[in-house]
Amino acid sequence: MSRRLPVIGILGGGQLARMLALAAAPLGVRCSVVDGSADACAGQLAPLRVADWRDLASLEQFAAAVDVVTFDFENVPAATAEWLRQRVPVHPSPEALAVAQDRISEKMLFRAIGLDTPAFAAVSTRSELDAAVARIGVPSILKTRRLGYDGKGQFRLRSATDVDAAWAALGAQATPHGLVLEAFVPFTRELSVLAVRGRDGEFRTWPLTQNWHHQGILALSHAPAEVAPELAALALHKAQALAEKLDYVGVFALELFEHAGHLLGNEMAPRVHNSGHWTIEGAVTSQFENHVRAVLGLPLGATTLRAPSVMFNWIDALPEPVTGALALSDVHWHDYGKDPRPGRKVGHATIACADSVQLLARAQALAQALGREPQLAPALPVLHAGAAPRG
Ligand code: AMP
Repeated sequence: MSRRLPVIGILGGGQLARMLALAAAPLGVRCSVVDGSADACAGQLAPLRVADWRDLASLEQFAAAVDVVTFDFENVPAATAEWLRQRVPVHPSPEALAVAQDRISEKMLFRAIGLDTPAFAAVSTRSELDAAVARIGVPSILKTRRLGYDGKGQFRLRSATDVDAAWAALGAQATPHGLVLEAFVPFTRELSVLAVRGRDGEFRTWPLTQNWHHQGILALSHAPAEVAPELAALALHKAQALAEKLDYVGVFALELFEHAGHLLGNEMAPRVHNSGHWTIEGAVTSQFENHVRAVLGLPLGATTLRAPSVMFNWIDALPEPVTGALALSDVHWHDYGKDPRPGRKVGHATIACADSVQLLARAQALAQALGREPQLAPALPVLHAGAAPRG
């Protein structure tokens, strides 16, 4: 009798599915992926079914061949997730997915657990936009309520005269899903809590991460974030409240702004998250491994820090030549096997180093070897502060 290994079905076949498959293998777990694109990069590591989210015949076969379904992409229609749940366990739940797909439901949920958000107003007509700008003021950001990611579907209003341009950019998307105008937060830091909750309700968080974005796309993450311990404890507490409210199973990220000593909720990602890639080398158990464990109902691994880490994202195209990074022998290189494309995440590099002075030096050497000093520059004051002798 041959041994049957558990199979996780993943909706979406990008780099997150690819890294889930990599983390699943040592646990004796297989992954199977569905994506609309035949060149989805997870297909290089796991069987790939090319299908549309509405192709029920194909999804029926997929459901029959897997033990549990999860996501690498939060814009899978919640109706597809619900349909699958009639056939096979789906984690996180279609309800959690649905909340995270709508910026307004998400903000209402944050407020329900006592987490403030930027001031916001729903907008579905031009006159509602005028009223929202009059109430919220400028600077502010107009966003699509749904289907936005990596800064897509956003327009920044710097003055009231930008209303026409904002409507020209996004007005066509005001129906049927609507838009949301948010006050622009002049934040001190962007932080994210990476957390995991098991099927039995066990909850763990990784150390808080600080993030820097460029043009709405994550450029760099550093963990653990250098924040006041009370603020870090509050962030982790809010993540736990969120997970319990949603009866969440799996890994998620709660993205926060720190402003004037307070935390504001920006958004949640109901899946493994780019700001947690450092956990592969920097934590005892990575976000990918713990997601696999959680959705299968296995015990969770420790989320404690192995070493402070810096992660660089590679957008558009990989640096040429990559050997510059590989020559730095302590750099962990991740090439997602994708073709280059503007705005596309194609890889990342992580440096994990127990000594903060060394971490700073290694991050600078990596940035220099690959011509990425501008990407590192905004983080340098934080890394310098971490490396300074403590008195
Ligand atoms: P989002 O897709 O909403 O996470 O936005 C992407 C990035 O845009 C965030 O990580 C921030 O850097 C920036 N951003 C979004 N909303 C706001 C806001 N209300 N105030 C300031 N910056 C924002």
